[in-house]
Amino acid sequence: MSIQDNINALHDKLDHGNCLLVAVSKTKPEEDIMEAYDMGHRDFGENKVQELVQKFGTLPKDIKWHMIGHLQRNKVKAIAPFVHLIHAVDSLKLLKEINKQGEKNNRSISCLLQVHIAEEQTKFGFSENELHQLLASQEISNLNSVNITGLMGMATNSTNDSLVRSEFRKLHSFFNECKKYENSNIHFTELSTGMSSDYHIATDEGSTIVRLGSVIFGERN
Ligand SMILES: *Cc1c(COP(=O)(O)O)cnc(C)c1O
Repeated sequence: MSIQDNINALHDKLDHGNCLLVAVSKTKPEEDIMEAYDMGHRDFGENKVQELVQKFGTLPKDIKWHMIGHLQRNKVKAIAPFVHLIHAVDSLKLLKEINKQGEKNNRSISCLLQVHIAEEQTKFGFSENELHQLLASQEISNLNSVNITGLMGMATNSTNDSLVRSEFRKLHSFFNECKKYENSNIHFTELSTGMSSDYHIATDEGSTIVRLGSVIFGERN
């Protein structure tokens, strides 16, 4: 199967649920991205700022670049002029820095707040309680150059489908709860869940964006 075949097959599955496919192109060469681009695909995801900036520099300017990985505050500046959506905002400090860089670039930067839903200790993200506090705070409503469009989560890396399903389901119900915080810069419309190993479960459980790498481009080295 070619990259184009893989994307076509996924579009068929995902359009059904109105789910956006972000093609995760990290570590993959520009030729691979152009194969997908040439068939009309425009949403690509990277998890490292340096690689994202480099690919932005050389690839067509109408690509929508998603920053899907953990983001350090001192690197926000480099992606602020062009990034389409930052998926993994995991602290108020980071959100404030994104706001500052959005202001400098005269744009509002769309962000998702990452929620910690997995059993693993290593995954980043807010707890539900932390997010209730943050979303209700005056501080967040003053950040006029960010647009919080929803949540992102990564399930436990496990072959136990029912565990993964229960984590996505819980996040979806929390997502729905968060809709009450609707504000000028808070609009809960997007739920970014699902990677190659678990997207079939994520789309059952309310995902509006899936981030898929290996099922499109093949295994990474
Ligand atoms: C790499 C990555 C993905 C895609 O992983 P695959 O298993 O290749 O689909 C999704 N989300 C994040 C945050 C990633 O870093």
